[in-house]
Amino acid sequence: MKLVYTHENRLMVLNVRNILSDHGIEVVVNKEYASSAAGGLAPIDTWPEVWIVNDDDFGSSMNIIESLDVELKTAMWQCRECLEMNDETFDYCWNCKRDKY
Ligand SMILES: [Zn+2]
Repeated sequence: MKLVYTHENRLMVLNVRNILSDHGIEVVVNKEYASSAAGGLAPIDTWPEVWIVNDDDFGSSMNIIESLDVELKTAMWQCRECLEMNDETFDYCWNCKRDKY
C-alpha cells in the first residue's frame, strides 16, 4: 500500500480514484468522509487519501496523476465567495452553497 494522492476536496480525490481504476490500478480511498465529520475546513490530516494496493503501480500512478492534475484543475471552477474548488457539474459551491454564476 502506498499513498499516491491527497486533497482537501473529496471530489478531486474521487476523480483520481476513478481514473486510476480505469487504468486497471487497484486503489483504496481512506478517510473519504472525515472532512465532513470534522465540519468546516478540514485540517490536512483529515484530507481523504488515495492509496494504491500494489506498490508496483506507484510509478505509473504518479505519471497518470501528474498528467491529470492540470486537467482536473481546468475542469473545475472556483467559488467567488469562499474560494473552494468545485466540480464543473456542480451549480452551487459544495462548501458555502453559493451559486456558480
Ligand atoms: Zn463557496
